[in-house]
Amino acid sequence: MQIKRLRLSGFKSFVDAADLRIEPGLTGIVGPNGCGKSNLLEALRWTMGETSARSLRGAGMEDVIFAGTATRPAREFAEVSMLIERAPADDGSVEETEIVRRIERGAGSAYRIDGRDVRAKDVALLFADAATGAHSPALVSQGRISAVIAAKPAERRAMLEEAAGIAGLHVRRKDAEQKLRATEANLLRLDEVIADQD
Ligand code: ATP
Repeated sequence: MQIKRLRLSGFKSFVDAADLRIEPGLTGIVGPNGCGKSNLLEALRWTMGETSARSLRGAGMEDVIFAGTATRPAREFAEVSMLIERAPADDGSVEETEIVRRIERGAGSAYRIDGRDVRAKDVALLFADAATGAHSPALVSQGRISAVIAAKPAERRAMLEEAAGIAGLHVRRKDAEQKLRATEANLLRLDEVIADQD
């Protein structure tokens, strides 16, 4: 999977719509302190489904919305769109997918994949299957190296599983187990109903 473009609007310091094209050969982003380099990385993680406001340096999730300055009023929503290219198909053709996350004050987050409304979980699974995601070790933010060194074995294992692209399987297994338990409960209830009729 390759990230081709990030489009931000109202996200943190990016009050005006801004496009970041990620061309082959881009190895880093430089700029003066406070110009928004970390905000860009956070926009990536946020679109991939980050649920922790604290890890985006905020107290609540609405803190990602442009808060206003002395000259510009605060915005009511933030939206980030990410264009990705999936692995080439057998015939060599590549598939582009657009993932959008939007948050409105008082209304929470909404996600879209190629224009279709989806759940946060669908977005997380899409990235987990591509061996990446909001917590991917490939996204190295400040303080992350020392966190990896200090991580407990179970946390390191989770990182390796994410890198190997099998993290999504755990989510699906949990879902399947829940459905199994619900079906077992239904069967029990059915047995009781049948026994009552005898
Ligand atoms: P450094 O090199 O110091 O790490 P940086 O280039 O990574 O800096 P960021 O941390 O990405 O910069 O950006 C910080 C800027 O973003 C600050 O000026 C801060 O005021 C602004 N900012 C963060 N959240 C918001 C928000 N919700 N609304 C408006 N501006 C915001």
